[in-house]
This record gives sequence, structure tokens and C-alpha cells, in this order.
Amino acid sequence: MSSDALPESSKSDSPESAVPLSDPAARAGGILEIDLSALAANWQRLVAESAPAEASAVVKADAYGLGVAEAAPALWQAGARTFFVAQLDEALTLRALLPQARIYVLNGLMAGAEADYPAHDLRPVLNSLEELGRWRQTLGARPHPAALQIDSGMSRLGLEARELARLASEPQRAAGLEITHLMSHLASADVPGSPQSEQQLAEFLAARQTLAAALGPAGASLANSAGVFLGPAYRFDLTRPGSALYGINPTPGRSNPMRQVVRLKGKILQLREIDPLRGVGYGASWRAQGPTRIATVAVGYADGYLRSLSNSGEALVGGHKAPVVGRVSMDLITLDVTAVPEAAARPGTFAELLGPDLPVDTVGDAAGTIGYEILTSLGRRYHRVYRGGAA
Ligand SMILES: *Cc1c(COP(=O)(O)O)cnc(C)c1O
Repeated sequence: MSSDALPESSKSDSPESAVPLSDPAARAGGILEIDLSALAANWQRLVAESAPAEASAVVKADAYGLGVAEAAPALWQAGARTFFVAQLDEALTLRALLPQARIYVLNGLMAGAEADYPAHDLRPVLNSLEELGRWRQTLGARPHPAALQIDSGMSRLGLEARELARLASEPQRAAGLEITHLMSHLASADVPGSPQSEQQLAEFLAARQTLAAALGPAGASLANSAGVFLGPAYRFDLTRPGSALYGINPTPGRSNPMRQVVRLKGKILQLREIDPLRGVGYGASWRAQGPTRIATVAVGYADGYLRSLSNSGEALVGGHKAPVVGRVSMDLITLDVTAVPEAAARPGTFAELLGPDLPVDTVGDAAGTIGYEILTSLGRRYHRVYRGGAA
């Protein structure tokens, strides 16, 4: 999606349309820079960490909010050949971008849309015996690759234990199917030392044994980003990192081995000096304790700058910390820039809201959420700039 796309009405041949618009960066309230070189470097890091298993790339939810149209080709260029998305429509979008990629649909085989998978060379992650049966009916005699997911403790998607036992005793249910991987998903890979990861690994290994006859030579896939860093036992044949590609720390509690991919800059619109006890923002939820300088920045919750960052977020202005004071409103935030040199905080200069010195995980913490939600909430009003990569 181009950020300077105009609504249909402004593209008409009305007299106004003859006037060329100014630079989109000058018009925008926020500028989102996405570093495709950092994305490629993160990919290489995950390839090295996954080896000898293949690393895939999870690009669901518009590549975690970064823009799949730019991220997927950059990942392909870096060497990624296997991709995962959540939804069938995401897979169709990705197919148009990457004609040669292996594309898996995590959410499974959508009823009523079965024919789209073989027609566009897409691979469902089959999540139940019912889906397995429908997939066989769809294919008839023409085999087409798919993955099969078992529930090893997430209680969300995949075959349950009794379905697993049923498939083991009725292996003809999978006869003639090309199951590339048996897979499952870890619930607590990002919790250091969680016993749940070991329990899921044990269940997954047992399921492989149980299904060995039914599935034949299928590979195996268990690890998400954090799972890759749990050690070789978790990597099997194919790893499925998503978040780490985009800069989220896959080793919580330890230093982040990944590079930051996004930088978000909000434009300072105005500055004002306020007196002690004067309120800032809706509900006057913050009051100045002494003479205070406030910078108003043109980014708000409508841009995905979460309202829970009210009085808890932090920005960098000219490299100096500037706390978010008062409530985040729809289109604006207010920063305390009293400690920032005046030259750095002027109308037209930028407050950094995300970036190498303000990682997504830190902002997620401040918002009472996780970096994943910060990235997938990134708004559509930003002027997006893609740097590096092949383009
Ligand atoms: C989203 C997802 C992934 C990627 O997880 P990250 O934690 O972002 O690396 C892998 N596997 C499944 C099944 C997923 O849903």
C-alpha cells in the first residue's frame, strides 16, 4: 500500500488534481522507516541459528505490520523459500508477490475455499481430522503438499490426542497425501526455563512416533523465534520464526541478538511552556510540577500509538529522553521536553518513538503489552520509507 495513495475522489479530473502535491514526508505526521537490510540480516542470523534445519519466514499480519509487499521480496532475496501466513487471503497476496515460494496457511483449510489452495499452489496446515478428510476430497487423485499440526499444549489449533490416536489406528486417512511436515506450536518458548517447552517437546516427539506409519517420511517443525534459541532439540527440519525477523527479542532476559528494523518518528507541531499545576491532555491526567516545556507530536492512538502509553511511554528527542505526559489522544501525544535542548525540540523536528535506541520490546513493556502488538498496530497514516534491501 502506498502511503501517498489518494482517495478516488482526489484522483478525478477536478481542477484541484492539476496542482501537484507537496512531499509526502512534509505532509505526514509520522514517518515510519523500515530497514530491509536489518530484516535481511535478522533472517541470516536465524538461518545460522536454525542450521541444519531450514528456516522459514512467518509473514502473517502484513509481515507483523511492516508491509508484506516489501518485506516478503526482501526475505526472498535474502534466501527465504518457505513462508507462513495465517489466512488464505494473505497467502493469495503473497503468491502474487512470490510466484516460486512455498506458502503455508496456518489457520488451515477454509471450508468453501478448498479449491483455492491447489489452484494457487498454497499449502494448508491441516488442523483436524475433518480438515484432513476435506483435503483428500478436494485433491482426489492429485497430490498436493500440506502440513499437519498437532496440539501439544497450546489448546488452540491442531489435532487433539484422541484424533492423533485415531489417525494412528486408521492410517488410510492420510493415504496418498503429501504431508511435508508434522508441526506444533510452543506456548511458552519466550519464558526462560519454562517446563512447558520441555513438556511440549516430549509430546511432540511422542506424536511423531505414534504417527510414523501414517505419515511416512514427513519432516517436523516446532520452533517459533524463541523456540529456535531453546537449543538444537527444538529445531527439527524447519523453524518458523516471525517476530525475531522484525526485531523482537527471541531471548527475553538476555541481550537482543536481533537488529531493530523499524524507526518511527513523530513530527513536533508545537511547543509551549506551562506553569506548575497546569494539566496536560484529556482529563488533565498529568500536571506539571514546575515550569515545564511540552512538545505536541502528530501521532496518536489512531496511528497505533497505544493509548496505554499515556503517562508511561517515552520518546527520544535529539537523543534525549522525553516522557509521554498526559493521555495519548487520537491524533496527538504530548511530551515533556523540559530537559531537551531547545534546538532539538522545535516545530518540524522529530521525536523518535521506536528505533534502535527505543526497541519495540521496551515500548511494548511501557504499554503493558508485547512488541508484537506494537508492530502489528503500526498505523496506515504514516509516511512509510523502505531502506536497504534489493529495491
Ligand atoms: C505466529 C506463529 C509463528 C511465529 O511466531 P513468532 O513468535 O513470531 O516467531 C510460528 N508458528 C505459528 C504456528 C504461529 O502462529
